[in-house]
Amino acid sequence: MGSRPYRRRLAWGAAALLAAGVAVPAVASASEAGGSSDVPALSAGHGAKKAKNVILLIGDGMGDSEITLARDYTVGAAGRLNMDKFPLTGAYTTYSVDKDGKPDYVTDSAASGTGWATGQKTVNGRISKTPGTDKAMPTILELAQKNGLATGSVTTAELTDATPAVLASHATDRSCMGPADMKACPNDTLAKGGPGSIAEQSVNHKVDVLLGGGKARFDQKVTEGRFAGRTVTQQAEQLGYQVVTDDKGLKNARPGKPVLGLFADGNVPVEWTGKAAAQGGTEPQRCVTNNPERKAGTPGLDDQTRKALQLLEAKQKAAGSKKGFFLQVEGASIDKRDHAADPCGQIGETAALDRAVKVARAYAAQHPDTLVVTTADHGHTSQIVPLEATPPGLSSTLVTNEGQKLKVNYSTNTPGKPQEHTGTEVRIAAQGPQAERVLGVTDQTQLFTTIRTALSLR
Ligand SMILES: [Zn+2]
Repeated sequence: MGSRPYRRRLAWGAAALLAAGVAVPAVASASEAGGSSDVPALSAGHGAKKAKNVILLIGDGMGDSEITLARDYTVGAAGRLNMDKFPLTGAYTTYSVDKDGKPDYVTDSAASGTGWATGQKTVNGRISKTPGTDKAMPTILELAQKNGLATGSVTTAELTDATPAVLASHATDRSCMGPADMKACPNDTLAKGGPGSIAEQSVNHKVDVLLGGGKARFDQKVTEGRFAGRTVTQQAEQLGYQVVTDDKGLKNARPGKPVLGLFADGNVPVEWTGKAAAQGGTEPQRCVTNNPERKAGTPGLDDQTRKALQLLEAKQKAAGSKKGFFLQVEGASIDKRDHAADPCGQIGETAALDRAVKVARAYAAQHPDTLVVTTADHGHTSQIVPLEATPPGLSSTLVTNEGQKLKVNYSTNTPGKPQEHTGTEVRIAAQGPQAERVLGVTDQTQLFTTIRTALSLR
């Protein structure tokens, strides 16, 4: 990426932004911008604002179509979700690369997460390592830690799943989640002098707040090195973590020690259920908004986000630090239910992420030096089609909260096979210091620079 696209965008966008009362960074000359950097140097003027904190909310597989479905069903076509209320919205491209660096037009969550976590593209399946040479690349979370910020990661997936994994681990393949899962990562094992599984690396990084699913991965036994014979959970405790497994435990977690929250053996069960889409469609259905598979005591993504913010802020206060925090929050099962052609599951998880967005925006309203970004890692299958359409793939008719019928179609793969990601650009929306950097059409990797610049990370 050269610096030119950004400069061009500012040139036409500046007047409109100023009219909208948005601070626009003064753009330095090309020589000041440093040539190789993809972001121009900023003047010390009003536009060069620094963020103390960054909250990054990721809807996995949450393309425009997934957002629109959730909006139509819950608040109505003319309504607005919390994630629709950001003042600044742009689009970003998400493609990954092959081992030679050539474009692979449809990314997976590992390569896309690596994009914003490291600022570099990689091959599908890879976790924060280079595409050809398979070398570890520093991540935004690692930089934040090095600069004295508190850090956190919250997800509805297993904590070892790709999107959380890219922050605090480096793996040849995303499947290397626990010590017993290292088949695809022969060079990452402790025996080979590598950093070990994603679970082990995550707790070794001493991320201050880790909340999500994946308890079974952390209960696997470490086979090599200093913690051999213990589970990763025991390793975490030995490293100082308080481990919690339900909402009561989470409520009682106190700042002063890092927190590992494991609220399900695998992915956290979704909030809503309903009939999956079928060939020829379904009868008009209303979604069931209390999934019986979700155990009582499972904290919501919004509760987890609220608690994570409290813990991160309290940690810095107790340490007498003026530095803030970096927190990533992922709504993971928008993607997983989209793969399964399950519109109700998908919409319920989008609504759950939207409540977490509300928590983040409320925090930012009290702490205006907080950059909040909401985006997706890639597009996905679901499409809203006319009621009279008879698509060849899977479809379902829903009855929305405003009483209208809505038909959704899943046709990125043969019925019976999992539905697929798409290569479309996706929305990125933001508020707070440096939020204007999301405007126009950017690439996923530029989000790394946006966060790094906002937090002045060296
Ligand atoms: Zn997926």
